Order: sequence, then structure tokens, then C-alpha cells
Amino acid sequence: MSEPAVEAKVEVKQASKEVKESENAAEKYSAMTVSKNSEMNMGELASVFSAVPTHKPVKKQIQFVEEKQEFSRFPTKTGRRSLSRSISQSSTDSYSSAASYTDSSDDETSPRDKTQINSKGSSDFCVKNIKQNEFGRREIEIAEQDMSALISLRKRAQSEKPLAGAKIVGCTHITAQTAVLIETLVALGAQCRWTACNIYSTQNEVAAALSETGVAVFAWKGESEDDFWWCIDRCVNTEGWQPNMILDDGGDLTHWVYKKYPNVFKKIRGIVEESVTGVHRLYQLSKAGKLCVPAMNVNDSVTKQKFDNLYCCRESILDGLKRTTDVMFGGKQVVVCGYGEVGKGCCAALKALGAVVSVTEIDPICALQACMDGFRVVKLNEVIRQVDVIITCTGNKNVVTRDQLDRMKNGSIVCNMGHSNTEIDVASLRTPELTWERVRSQVDHVIWPDGKRVILLAEGRLLNLSCSTVPTFVLSITATTQALALIELYNAPEGRYKQDVYLLPKKMDEYVASLHLTTFDAHLTELSDEQAKYLGLNKNGPFKPNYYRY
Ligand code: NAD
Repeated sequence: MSEPAVEAKVEVKQASKEVKESENAAEKYSAMTVSKNSEMNMGELASVFSAVPTHKPVKKQIQFVEEKQEFSRFPTKTGRRSLSRSISQSSTDSYSSAASYTDSSDDETSPRDKTQINSKGSSDFCVKNIKQNEFGRREIEIAEQDMSALISLRKRAQSEKPLAGAKIVGCTHITAQTAVLIETLVALGAQCRWTACNIYSTQNEVAAALSETGVAVFAWKGESEDDFWWCIDRCVNTEGWQPNMILDDGGDLTHWVYKKYPNVFKKIRGIVEESVTGVHRLYQLSKAGKLCVPAMNVNDSVTKQKFDNLYCCRESILDGLKRTTDVMFGGKQVVVCGYGEVGKGCCAALKALGAVVSVTEIDPICALQACMDGFRVVKLNEVIRQVDVIITCTGNKNVVTRDQLDRMKNGSIVCNMGHSNTEIDVASLRTPELTWERVRSQVDHVIWPDGKRVILLAEGRLLNLSCSTVPTFVLSITATTQALALIELYNAPEGRYKQDVYLLPKKMDEYVASLHLTTFDAHLTELSDEQAKYLGLNKNGPFKPNYYRY
């Protein structure tokens, strides 16, 4: 009976050490319960969220590490398609607008060549067709229904305006869900200028709806690479307006500001970054001592990683496969490469439909988890001749090689759920002896000389983001975290954040989760005083140490 108590004490000791390391964030929270948090005003909210630096602050001077991307090129009015590849991987991963009303638009005129004017006479935007704004408004209203946490944040803070004076320049996917976030930021007092982080992902009617309400949006589906940078530039480089906050997804906007307008950073209070790629770039900068403003790593907050990566993929993998191939999963031999968060989500969904799922892993811990969850752990080479579907989820490269693709059977399906389109060696399939046949949007038959066909989805890019929609509720969790990170960075007193990359504190993750619990009418159990003492926890959270893995 004494063992749990010992364990609990050990955990408490470790937890309290982390609290000290995290700038005493927990002390500030100590008087608040999660439920009380939900009732906090925005001023209180901002003041309690001092985040956890992930390593020691380093000294400054804005200077991004040199990368392969060509950030130095200006967009040109002519030669729009002439720029060499310069956008980060994430920017060119095509992304769903599957529900988009305007997907079928055949208007070939570039939005840059159109007269842009909304019903109030403003021309400070560039979208495909402003007349589609009413359809966009309906899309946004649908999204709002599943983003109640953001709506409640909006209502609660409407009078306090914690973002009054904030001038946010954003670069994210422009979808109905992002629109709910942007309109929340506006309701909280911010001025926003927005551009797309991906040349395919913009829902045109949503961009129109935002522009109609006065948000300066520069984005449309199917931008050229030159358009992409032009849109970013138009967001940043405008007379009489300078951003003081950046919300980025992938790091392209941050890099553009650094390259073209480094002085803008003098006014920037912070960067909030969502993606793996963008966060990686920020850490590189920080490590090199070149980050000159505080940045929040939203990607690694628990509520993002555990919900976006796991549940989003669990919900969307089947949708992506069904829409593209109409495949029946029962009895199919499926191999999932990588049993991390994304792999776990995919495996769970496929198993539930009766697929015979095997897993490949390099990490014995994840491999053991797969075994315990009832999956066979195999080497891809051992099963390659029998497999019907391969799904890569590793974040690695060349996980499926040309040699393996050569040995796959006729009619097998290959796709990727990882960030980068290098998990499957697609480049190796572009050789003269293989014929590529486009059979549907995002579906290619690659045909071998003997007539064997392998079905390649989305040319090896993220399947769910390319070929299906992703659940709004999951995006709500991430968007809420982004909004809170912006509020915190914008309102933080001088000196709370240095030129470093910060993780959101556990308490903030718990708050984001608590806002979403109401959707399910879920009721939390409260610790008794005795129980709190026994576990060495504050009754109001945080309830887990930072190292807890969930
Ligand atoms: P993770 O690190 O939790 O899991 C990846 C797993 O792959 C690890 O367990 C690792 O050991 C394993 N692995 C690495 N190389 C391997 C190899 N050669 N063979 C077999 N296994 C290998 O990461 P995650 O959160 O699961 O994310 C995986 C990828 O998916 C990342 O690129 C991430 O950016 C992306 N992602 C996609 C979506 C989406 O909606 N499609 C959402 C979130 C993240």
C-alpha cells in the first residue's frame, strides 16, 4: 500500500523542480482552478500565462540562419511562374479545401490583375472573387458551431479587448476554421492582415468573406510561387501600418520579414509559430543566438500534439483514402510506417474497420506499444509483396524506396501522412520506363513496363491535408492555443520573455482543454484538500509535471 505514496512523492519532487525552472509560472496559477480559469477576465489570463523557456535565453540580433530557401527574391509582376522553388516544404504541401464552394471555379484571371473592392469601398485585399463572400460567411458559420471554445473566448473578452492595439500579421492556411480564429482576434481588439502559408489551401470564398468584413487578406487557391511571396509582402509592406505580432505556420512569413524588413522586428512583441517546420527554424535561430524577439512554440503544447497529431489523423486517414480510391478496408493488409502520434491514430482507425494492420518502427518503445495494441511489428521488406496499402507517418525520408515500390503487387496503394513529401521516394518513380497516369485529382497510377500499377496518392504529400477535410473541433483546440499565446505575448510585461523560444505552460494547456470540455458536458472531479496534499498538487493545477507524457 505504501508504494503509490512513494511514487507520488518522487513525482512531486520532480514536479516542483520544474516549476522553479519555469519562471515560477505555477506559483502565479496557484490560486486558480481550471473552472475558475474559465471565468477569468482576459487581463488575469494574460498575466498568469508566463511560459516555459525550453532552453537558456541567448543574445539576439535578428539574423536567420542561411537556408536553402531563396528568401531574397522579390516577387515580380511579370514572370510570375519563373521563380525557382523557394517556398518551404509546408507551403507547397497541398491542403484540403475539399468542402470549398469555389473549388470548381474556372476563372483563370489572376486576382492580381483584377480590381479588388469590397462593399465598403476598401481595396486593401487581394482575393479570387469578393462576390463569393456570402458563401464564405456560411462556411465560417458552420465552423463556428464546432469551435465553441473560441466563441466563448470571444464573448468573454469582448469588453476587455486584450488585443487592443495589436497589429497581427498572419500566415496560415486560410480556411473557415482559421477565419473563426482571425475574427476572434479582431473581436479581442486586434487589427489583422493575413496571407496563406500554402499555395493550395485557401478557401476562396472564406478569403472573400474576411475581406468583405475589412480584414486585409491576400490569398487565393492555386497561387504561383511568385504570388505567394507577393501576398506575404503586401501583408507586411503597407503604408501607415506596421505589425507588432506575427502568427506563422511554417516560418515563411517570419523569414520574409527578416530578409526584407528587419526593422519591423523592432516593434514586434512576439512570434507565435504552429508548425513543426517553423518551430524547427526558430530553434535553429535561437541556438545560433540570432533570434531577436520572444517566440511561442505552439506545436509542442500537449493540446496541439496529442489532439492534432493523434485524433486529427485518426479521423481523417480513412476519409482521405476513401475519397481517392473507394477502397474497402476489411481484410486488407495495411502497413503503417511509424507508430508515433500520427501512426497510432491511423492504426486505430484502420483496425476498427477490419484491416489487418502491421507496423514498422525503428524505436523499440514505440514498437512495443504497437505490439501491446495488437499490431504485428514487421520490416517492410518482409511483407512488401503481400501488402495492399502502405501509409508513412515517420517524419523521416526514404521510408519507402524505389526497390520496395518495384516489389509491390499490382493495385497496391501508397500514401503519406507525414509532414514532408520525401517519406516515399517519389522522385525515383519519375524515370522513363514508368508511366504516370492521372486518374483523379490527387490520384496517380504509376505503371511498370509489365503492366503493374501502383496507386500513388497526393504525389506523396500529406494525404489528409491534400485529399480530405480535417475535423474542425481539433483545429479549434489549436486555434484557441494560438489566440491565448498571442494574448500572453502581447500583454506580457517587459522582461517576462527574452529572445528565446517558449513552450506554453502546462496550466495553459489545461485551460485550453477545459474550454473544450463543455462541448461534451464533461464534469471534472475536484481534488479534496487531503488528496491534493497527498499528491503534492495544487488543487487548481497544473495537474501534471512537464515531463508527463499523457
Ligand atoms: P512521432 O515522432 O511521434 O512519430 C514518428 C515515428 O516514426 C517515431 O516513433 C519514429 O521512431 C518512427 N520512425 C522514424 N523513422 C522511421 C523509419 N524509417 N521506419 C519506421 N519508423 C520510423 O511524430 P508524429 O507526431 O507521429 O508525426 C509524424 C509526422 O506526421 C511528422 O512529419 C508530422 O509533422 C506529421 N504530422 C501530420 C499530421 C497530419 O495531419 N497528417 C498531423 C500532425 C503531424
